[in-house]
Amino acid sequence: MIGQEIWKNLKNLVEIDKALNAIVSNKKKTLELIEKDKNLIPKFELEIKNFEEKIHNQTKYLDLAQLNASSLKEAENQKRSILDKLSNSKEYKALEKELKSIELQILEQENTLESKWVELENSKKDFDLLKKQNEEKILQLKEGLTVQEQELESESQKESELIEKRKIALSVIPVEWILKYERMILKVSNPIVPVISNACSVCYYPVLRQDIAKLKQSGILLCRSCYRFLYYDPTEESELKKESF
Ligand SMILES: [Zn+2]
Repeated sequence: MIGQEIWKNLKNLVEIDKALNAIVSNKKKTLELIEKDKNLIPKFELEIKNFEEKIHNQTKYLDLAQLNASSLKEAENQKRSILDKLSNSKEYKALEKELKSIELQILEQENTLESKWVELENSKKDFDLLKKQNEEKILQLKEGLTVQEQELESESQKESELIEKRKIALSVIPVEWILKYERMILKVSNPIVPVISNACSVCYYPVLRQDIAKLKQSGILLCRSCYRFLYYDPTEESELKKESF
């Protein structure tokens, strides 16, 4: 059964290569996901930082406005005490005008202070919400990253095991067939296919009677049309025939 061994070994190689390809593409996907998630974390952190800065600026503005309001009050008090002592009606009227203007400024300042204070309170509420949400997102991303990195490690582990298996698989296949296989696998995903009803089961090109005889003896032949490896397995043939009926 030397003939059977050759195609079985080749099919084994195909399976190993398929699994290796799947691992390579899985690893690529996982790496892309890790990259994407890693980039998201600083984005959420920056959002928190920027909002913190906004609140800081709002607080600073309010502090200044309050300072401004108290110096206006102070000026008002000062001028009022002067006003009480004045007897000259011209001077009195001028100061009274000035006082009116200060009073107006104080009123305006108070209105601004009130609206800015409401703004700050609202910002603080929004900030608390954003911070909570972003911190949750960051935590989830970090947990996800741990899982993805573990996955990557286990895929790499499987990959090295398969590479070892591939070496063993190659060692039992004649070099000429390996070279043919390496060329074929670049072109098609199924380089080794069974002969069904005396024809290649992919391109349906008929296999000559003498070739069938050779196939049964040597185990493997190239299809004269699509150049895939052909093998003959009576069990597989009868099963495939059953499936198609
Ligand atoms: Zn063919």
